[in-house]
Amino acid sequence: MQTPAPFGYERATSVDGAIAALQRLGSEARVIAGGHSLLPMMKLRLANPEHLVDINEIAELAYIRLEEGVIRIGALTRHVDLLKSELLAEHYPLFRDAEEVIADPVVRNRGTIGGSLCQADAAEDLSAVCAAVKAEVVIRGADAERVVSMADFHVGPYMTAVGDGEMLTEVRIKLRPGAGSAHEKVERRAGDWAIAAASAAVWMDGSKIADAGIALSAVGLTTIHLSRAEELLRGEAPSEELFAQAGEIASEDCSPMADGRGPVDYKRHLAGVLTTRALRRATARALHQEA
Ligand SMILES: Cc1cc2nc3c(=O)[nH]c(=O)nc-3n(C[C@H](O)[C@H](O)[C@H](O)COP(=O)(O)OP(=O)(O)OC[C@H]3O[C@@H](n4cnc5c(N)ncnc54)[C@H](O)[C@@H]3O)c2cc1C
Repeated sequence: MQTPAPFGYERATSVDGAIAALQRLGSEARVIAGGHSLLPMMKLRLANPEHLVDINEIAELAYIRLEEGVIRIGALTRHVDLLKSELLAEHYPLFRDAEEVIADPVVRNRGTIGGSLCQADAAEDLSAVCAAVKAEVVIRGADAERVVSMADFHVGPYMTAVGDGEMLTEVRIKLRPGAGSAHEKVERRAGDWAIAAASAAVWMDGSKIADAGIALSAVGLTTIHLSRAEELLRGEAPSEELFAQAGEIASEDCSPMADGRGPVDYKRHLAGVLTTRALRRATARALHQEA
């Protein structure tokens, strides 16, 4: 099937207007941002929304800024803007690592952070990135807004905490001292989805790891949060042995499926190797041992 089923279309020019439209149109309405995930699904008839609310003209939703120690990213911020952001590259360089290997310029010029997170596809790179840096997301409805941690945002494959009549408006990441971060991905060819990818962030306190965040893409039904490996790292001095142990946990705690990208054993192995590499690079960056 290469054409979507018929649908109604509405263009919103403000967040309030988009939410009012979503409330009025009910549970069969969907937001459309870049359209790079939703439109292919509609063409394949895997998604059949009766109405689309287009948010591309809501300029107030496209920004990356630092306010009172928090980096705020508007939901309509495009991949290309995340790639080029010096603010993100300075504080959380794993965004640039990831954006350099997400799809191609056509997708990056249009696809948004809000769409990536709301798609809740386990293979999305940005979901692992945001989980690793312990981001929070802002979900707005008609009467109020809620702030939800990335750990609670994805409630299942292709399912999020965003309810009917609500939309995601912002991603928030706290600046914390001693931060270093990295994203490592293996793909079949340039611009492809990951066979496996690992995002890691560490926050150093002197020579010890005060806190860590690690998440995996494409090796489970949802983004995998490696809380057991994070616990292992907390309070420890970084070492190759420690990173290798975290890699072993990653191999154990992921749950990949065999497909055209490879068999289960290969993906488990890859998840471990990429976790070790991401931690090594994140720590080197935190300790200013890598540019
Ligand atoms: C050829 C190709 C290769 C790709 N490769 C990669 C890759 O390597 N890595 C990767 O991570 N991604 C990849 N992508 C996906 C790409 O990153 C998409 O841009 C992203 O998945 C969705 O963003 P979007 O803005 O296009 O969302 P859309 O397609 O517009 O929307 C996706 C979903 O999110 C919902 N949504 C969007 N915005 C909001 C909002 N603000 N509030 C509530 N719901 C919202 C929509 O209703 C829909 O359900 C690829 C896509 C293509 C087409």
